[in-house]
Amino acid sequence: SDVLLSARGLRVEYPGRSGGRVRALRDVDLDIVRGETLGLVGESGCGKSTLGRALLRVVDPSAGRIDFLGADLTRLRGRRLRRTRAELQMVFQDPFGSLNPRRRIADIVAEPLLRARGAGRAEADRAVAELLDLVGLGAEAGGRRPHEFSGGQRQRIGIARALASSPQFVVADEAVSALDVSIQAQVLNLLSDLVRDRGLTMLFISHDLGVVRHIADRVAVMYLGEIIETASRDDFFAAPAHPYSSALLAGVPVLRPGPARERQPLEGELPDPAHPPEGCLFRTRCPFATDLCRIRHPELREVAPGRSVRCHLPLHSVSEESS
Ligand code: SF4
Ligand code: MG
Repeated sequence: SDVLLSARGLRVEYPGRSGGRVRALRDVDLDIVRGETLGLVGESGCGKSTLGRALLRVVDPSAGRIDFLGADLTRLRGRRLRRTRAELQMVFQDPFGSLNPRRRIADIVAEPLLRARGAGRAEADRAVAELLDLVGLGAEAGGRRPHEFSGGQRQRIGIARALASSPQFVVADEAVSALDVSIQAQVLNLLSDLVRDRGLTMLFISHDLGVVRHIADRVAVMYLGEIIETASRDDFFAAPAHPYSSALLAGVPVLRPGPARERQPLEGELPDPAHPPEGCLFRTRCPFATDLCRIRHPELREVAPGRSVRCHLPLHSVSEESS
């Protein structure tokens, strides 16, 4: 398959509140395939947003590399970084949270195009009108102000803005989480249409597994700054292989029932990320932990084509052995 963006050993650290260093990203390896929507899931505080931001060079990793369009993104500076940034955009949960409510929609949407692509005003106006049409608002929305729009319409504007510089890769971070359920479906459908029609590649970050199931082709799960499972959407939802994935899914309705052993809901607190457990990071909450899990930190290993798990005893290999 054709990998668009590839992270290797990506690490982000910051000082912890209770002393120590917090590894928000622990040497993350991740390939994102051209044209796919990769759903990134996990509890809040597990590093999803940090990974999304690191892939866009919004936060600088302290180690690792990100291969994108023939260069290591972490090493780009100056004009090459600006040019490459045009290919990488973000859709936020609330795109207007930090913006001047008095700015016109046309100026908000045009901003990445003017800044990242160095477009002229006339070109930007034309592009903005097209984009506002594309997201279903109509070009006349350009003259209005953010407060004149509903949450769902504002998210459409946020999407238009993210697409203005014609990016190849988009990170959507909890992009529909603030919306009513009825509006979520509309915005999700808009996003998947855009991914298909414009050949976009998307990292779709969400704590909501139902939403991820709707939009993602593939799923990656994070826990305490690590990727602990990657799988196709169908494999993942049919039979999660990591005990943490299984516990996350136990909280989601509309599931095919699996063996009872695989459907224990998540218990216990997320450990202090500045003082994580030795061995497997999940072992303090894992119902299947053994002595090995206390001693040895599991690697992310491929257990089947397209499926990787960071666990000494992945669930579906346990059930294969016993059948
Ligand atoms: Fe549980 Fe051990 Fe697997 Fe960690 S390595 S998830 S503690 S079984
Ligand atoms: Mg987040």
